[in-house]
Amino acid sequence: MIKKYTLHLYILLGVYLILYFISTIFQSKFFGDILSPIGTLISFFILIYVYKKSERFKGVWLTLSLGSLIWSITDILWAICELLIRINPENITIFDFFYLGTNICIVTAGYIYMKKFIKGVNLVQFFIDVSAISISCFIIFGLLFLHGSFNLFIKNANNIIEFIYIITDLLIINCILSGLFSVRKGKLTKGVYITILGTAIYAVVDLVYVYEYFYNLYVPNSIIDFMYATSLLIIAFGGLTVLKYSNFEWADEFYSKTKNIGSEKKGLYLLLTIPVYVIFGGFDFSKILVLLYIFVAYEILSNYVQKAINNETLLTYEKDINLILEEKIKERTKELLLKNQELEYISNHDPITNVYNRRYLNKRLQCIINEKKLDNQVTILYIDVDGFKTINDTYGHDIGDYVLIEISDRLKKTVKENNILARLGGDEFVIIIEGKLSKEEIKNICEKLINSCKETIYSDNYLFNVTISIGVAMFPHDAISRNVIMKNADIAMYDAKSKGKNRYSFFDSHVSNEILEKGEIELLLRNVDYDKEFELYYQPQIDINTNKLIGVEALIRWHSPIMGNIPPNKFIKIAEETGSIEKIGQWVMNTAAKQIGIWNEKFDSNIRMSINISPNQLVSIDFASDLEKIMKKYGLKSDWIDIEITENIAMKGEGIFKQIFLTLDNMGISISIDDFGTGYSSLSYIQKFSFNRLKIAKELIDNITIDLNKRHIVKAIVMLSEGLNILTIAEGVETEDQLNIVKEIGCNQVQGYVYSKPVTADRFEKEFLLQI
Ligand code: C2E
Ligand code: CA
Repeated sequence: MIKKYTLHLYILLGVYLILYFISTIFQSKFFGDILSPIGTLISFFILIYVYKKSERFKGVWLTLSLGSLIWSITDILWAICELLIRINPENITIFDFFYLGTNICIVTAGYIYMKKFIKGVNLVQFFIDVSAISISCFIIFGLLFLHGSFNLFIKNANNIIEFIYIITDLLIINCILSGLFSVRKGKLTKGVYITILGTAIYAVVDLVYVYEYFYNLYVPNSIIDFMYATSLLIIAFGGLTVLKYSNFEWADEFYSKTKNIGSEKKGLYLLLTIPVYVIFGGFDFSKILVLLYIFVAYEILSNYVQKAINNETLLTYEKDINLILEEKIKERTKELLLKNQELEYISNHDPITNVYNRRYLNKRLQCIINEKKLDNQVTILYIDVDGFKTINDTYGHDIGDYVLIEISDRLKKTVKENNILARLGGDEFVIIIEGKLSKEEIKNICEKLINSCKETIYSDNYLFNVTISIGVAMFPHDAISRNVIMKNADIAMYDAKSKGKNRYSFFDSHVSNEILEKGEIELLLRNVDYDKEFELYYQPQIDINTNKLIGVEALIRWHSPIMGNIPPNKFIKIAEETGSIEKIGQWVMNTAAKQIGIWNEKFDSNIRMSINISPNQLVSIDFASDLEKIMKKYGLKSDWIDIEITENIAMKGEGIFKQIFLTLDNMGISISIDDFGTGYSSLSYIQKFSFNRLKIAKELIDNITIDLNKRHIVKAIVMLSEGLNILTIAEGVETEDQLNIVKEIGCNQVQGYVYSKPVTADRFEKEFLLQI
């Protein structure tokens, strides 16, 4: 929407132009002299306004406004001379000089504009454009203005001012045409085109003026003067339009980008010189040929340059693309690098505790060992959380993980930064310490680690008192290969566990063999064929007074096809640790029960079968009912079975064991306390439970012939038992002397090599049962 005042301004200008035009028809001096300065003054004010408001090309607008001002002042002086002083101003040459100021201002404005405009042009093309235009202008000017004769020009050009007029006009025209020619890509704004139109009109009109002046044809206040004022007003109008549609983004791009590339049609404009010439100068073939020649030369040169530019653009485009590509590759590489780092972190760390994992540990340890010479030391601490399985099974994996994280944090805080802490999996951690350390220093570290883990762990709802066991092995002292050193540290850790946990143990090659064997047995137990590999041996139990067979103890034997005969002392403990004892116990109970059933049936006897029961079996709720089922199955009487329980177990608790003992007692099954006298025997507890028999440990019998102390102890046990109505059986009696002593002391029964070693069922039957 055009604002009201601008509308008024346009109407006023319209009226002004009409009035001025009419005045020129009548060649009115009065109106001409008054209207001309008014128009140019308006132009001046508008341009000054544009100068103030505009943010770009301020210099252009200032010089243009100055041009208008100079014109209007000269016009006013002219009017004063003509209308007031009544002197013919045409005779005052200084006016020509004043009016020239406007020309110079416009040329300056053009220069300022071109300076900026030229920044984004291809200079070679620009040079060709300017040359072609200048030559064409020069020829047209020469042909039309000087009718082909430069002598005329030289003759009349004694007035320097006229000469400058022509030069400035030609410069303005050249500047405009070169500018327009150079815009092959993009477009100037409407306002700029209008301004250019104004200046073009000004320059052409000025040339016409000089021409008329040259040939004495000029009439003041004619259409020429009107055109001057009009051209300045058009320039001002152009300025206003530029202000209205100024678009900085467009301008920034337009003036910085190469705009004289592309469109080959521009050159065709040069052909316009031919009709211009024909119209104003008549048909002259040779002259036309010259103009045509300029066109062709221009086209060839231009084409060549454009192609070169094009190639260069393609090249830079390619370079740009390459740069972008390179940038993209760089970015991608960076991403990949990050991903790689992430992956490497994941592949080297344990996801739960965030400490290193087994993979990394193995890799690192191998590297360290490879690097180290044998006089360097690497210490491996193999750590296992005691009883972690119970925590995991009882409280679930989340709590288990929580405990592991806490433990790993404590370990991390205790060791030095350069030590490597890794989780091998489960509840096992390893710490690698490089550098010489004395045994004392290592002990210190282990103690610190144990103490730091000992402190109560608090989780939301629970608190845990966790301990750790540590095995220590050193490179190169204990081994020089990674595998062996890790295995040795593991063995040492097992040793610490077997010594009661919550402690550390240094690797010792003696312990190592035991533990290795233990591992092997563990493995074999997993796949043992019960009926093929296990066998029960039987050892008689004899009434000391009557010398009669009253019972038999079933003792398991393992004939392993791989390790040969493995004694029960070795594998029962392992079976208890690994949990396979329950199944073994079941097998023993079943076999022994079946055997005693057969024997007592066959020989019509009442011999009692003693079966060793592991504590793990005993705590099972089903123990009593299982036994009952087996007894039923083989039709056993209750007094055919005796259960042997070790002393330590019997002492352990009152609760659950008391209950079991009561149940067994109610079933009429006899219970013997095995190995009595070796543990923390507390004679007082015997009375608490209903036992039937005490088996006096072999250790007490061993030196009984010479060791009076032992003899007293055995005596005390026997006396106490008598008082409580509990039978006693002396175990491991090997010699007649021993037999006599225990008999003398008052033991009721005896078992030992003195009568027989444990033997196979067949032998037992032959040697003992058939004798009854
Ligand atoms: P234990 O219950 O104390 O068994 C007595 C051990 O002493 C047997 O060893 C037996 O052969 C041995 N022995 C008996 N008389 C003499 C003797 O005069 N001199 C010597 N030197 N040794 C004698 P064995 O059969 O090697 O069994 C060792 C241990 O293994 C048993 O000690 C028992 O604790 C355990 N065991 C054996 N069989 C079973 C079983 O079926 N179940 C369970 N849970 N444990 C069993
Ligand atoms: Ca026994």
